[in-house]
Amino acid sequence: MELSDLPIRDDLRGKSPYGAPMVDVPVTLNVNENTHRVPDAVRSSILEALSDALENINRYPDREFLALREGLAAYLAQRPTGESTTGGPESIWAANGSNEVLQHVLQAFGGPGRSVLGFPPTYSMHPIIAEATGTRWVPAQRDADFEISPATAVAAVTEHQPDVVFFCSPNNPTGTGVSLETIEATYDASEAMVLVDEAYIEFAPDDHLSARRLLAGRPRLMISRTMSKAFAFAGARLGYLIADPVVNDALRLVRLPYHLSALTQAAATAALAHHETMLATVESIRQQRDRLARELTAMGYFVWPSLANFVLFGGVVDPGETFRGLLEQGVLVRDVGIEHTLRVSAGTAEETSAFLEALTRLER
Ligand code: PMP
Repeated sequence: MELSDLPIRDDLRGKSPYGAPMVDVPVTLNVNENTHRVPDAVRSSILEALSDALENINRYPDREFLALREGLAAYLAQRPTGESTTGGPESIWAANGSNEVLQHVLQAFGGPGRSVLGFPPTYSMHPIIAEATGTRWVPAQRDADFEISPATAVAAVTEHQPDVVFFCSPNNPTGTGVSLETIEATYDASEAMVLVDEAYIEFAPDDHLSARRLLAGRPRLMISRTMSKAFAFAGARLGYLIADPVVNDALRLVRLPYHLSALTQAAATAALAHHETMLATVESIRQQRDRLARELTAMGYFVWPSLANFVLFGGVVDPGETFRGLLEQGVLVRDVGIEHTLRVSAGTAEETSAFLEALTRLER
């Protein structure tokens, strides 16, 4: 029995699922997680919250996840410069990972007969979520060095007239940012819903401007974020969206009732109450990212300047061979399919050292 023997949707025939390898090795630097564990004090608080939630687990959870949205709003209210203060609970949506948030967005604003325009190389799930929701994926060109100028973005939306535009800033897998000028110009030049995927924003410099700045008066602008990266909470699956409250009314039409379990809501709300502790490792991860850039450059590789918790490095003669050589030494990185490059996440100091030493051994 083959998949093609089943009466699957025609538009899914021949497609590949998301496939980052899951290999149990000592140094896992392939999916841009925060490799630090959640601190013990926060773990105890989360356990208490989970225990409380179990008291009522016979009941459906709060369909409007209000406590969680309040927790997210309180966290957002104290973010550093570059972010506006808009973003109270009424302008926040959440789901099981920002992947599900993106799916809700495309279910509501994309779908059959509609298109979403993105700028590859970008997060590999963007086209996959487009396909899964029956939305046509339109890949647009970037400028040199993975930049997207306002003129380039405006030309793309003018030519393709998409229903949705996806930016990713900082972008996975390049680490590069998208300027507010580009986002603003794209918004003005189209009638599309414009989404900025800011999964890695906490790793950017404090003066980096988030698209939150642009939210006021722009009801078609949406910003997606996640607790999977800086918050070290990938296993809990919690992503969120910041937008005009009216966007929530659209997303309510497509989400399944009670999509966020009571346990997820309780765990995330408890973690958010400790956001400072949860984010305490961000500075050291930034330092390891900058160290990766420095040392890889010194080894003769080309490194794109990264605002995220990973770096893309070029000048790799045979990425497949280097990937395997690192894996044999217990280090898992990512071959994202860009010629002569590999991507590596910034881990702890020890993990970064293990990666750099393994790479050095391969070169000998
Ligand atoms: N956006 C980007 C740019 C990502 O790299 C990722 C995870 N790799 C996600 C969204 C999804 O993260 P999650 O579903 O865990 O929130």
